[in-house]
Amino acid sequence: MTRSARSDVLRIEDLCFRYDRTRGVEQVAMTLRSGEITGFIGANGAGKSTTLRCIVGLLRPHGGSIRLFGEPADARGRRRIGFMPEERGLFLHERARDAIAFHGRMKGLPRRAALTAADRLLERLGLEGRRGARIGDLSKGNAQRVQLLCALVHEPDLLVLDEPLSGLDPIGQGEVLSLFAEFRARGGAILFSTHGLDTAEAACDRVVVVAAGRTVFEGPTAEACEAVTHGAVVVTPDSEALLAAVAAIGASARPLGAGVRQAMRWRVVLSPTTPHPVLLRSLALHEVALYAFEPVAPTLEAAFWDLTAPPPREIAA
Ligand code: ATP
Repeated sequence: MTRSARSDVLRIEDLCFRYDRTRGVEQVAMTLRSGEITGFIGANGAGKSTTLRCIVGLLRPHGGSIRLFGEPADARGRRRIGFMPEERGLFLHERARDAIAFHGRMKGLPRRAALTAADRLLERLGLEGRRGARIGDLSKGNAQRVQLLCALVHEPDLLVLDEPLSGLDPIGQGEVLSLFAEFRARGGAILFSTHGLDTAEAACDRVVVVAAGRTVFEGPTAEACEAVTHGAVVVTPDSEALLAAVAAIGASARPLGAGVRQAMRWRVVLSPTTPHPVLLRSLALHEVALYAFEPVAPTLEAAFWDLTAPPPREIAA
């Protein structure tokens, strides 16, 4: 199916939500279509959970619009969503099968259908032997799997998942990603937040990147990676010398944060025609102590830094 032939599942424009004293989100926008997995990425506090809570109706936005399945978001549209909140929230004394079936019933499934669906899903993840276990007696990873099954039980058309991979080992992450792929193959849409950029790059058709409450990129994952600028990440304790070395070759540098032993991590952006050895030579000429030098590859992680790092730092004239 071509992208244009797919129907809009979710469309958010200019979303704004303020908590009492803090900004939640200021200007978030995204469009999701059926049969696509979208990764929602951003630094801590960027506004991912706030956006997801607005989508599912836990928070009422102060501005902007949310449309689900072509209509303004309402209870009917939201019944077609499966949601996994960041704070999880299953009762510890509840049994796995009952918890999943309960979520199914809340979304309108008859009791028997909800129990049948719970059994099928538990089996799908190899958890049929744990169906009678209390949530509090499950390992953290299994409790998380059960939470995900609660979101899936009523066969939603859209999954909205807040960090569904956190706390899972690589095998667990692989299982969840294969569930995602099955869901997508049936035409479902998935929006999930994550800090795992490698995983997002491998698993997501599209990404939405937020910074300080605003969407700063939305598009195909490959497009985000292709836009990565040529350059290197340099870790050094000599910030002034680094800035001088960079300025001497007409390049620019942005701080990425603290590095080891009081050093700073810098993202140096080179023009496409400047090879890395030119930068290395300038760093040597300016006697910059190097703790690390890493040429930047076109990855989602590099794109994330490009999109969210503070603006280039100029050296004082
Ligand atoms: P993380 O990756 O850490 O989960 P996030 O991208 O999900 O972060 P949000 O939790 O949506 O970000 O937070 C966005 C902003 O809203 C932050 O400034 C945060 O401090 C604030 N915030 C979030 N929840 C609340 C709350 N319940 N009360 C007040 N402020 C909040």
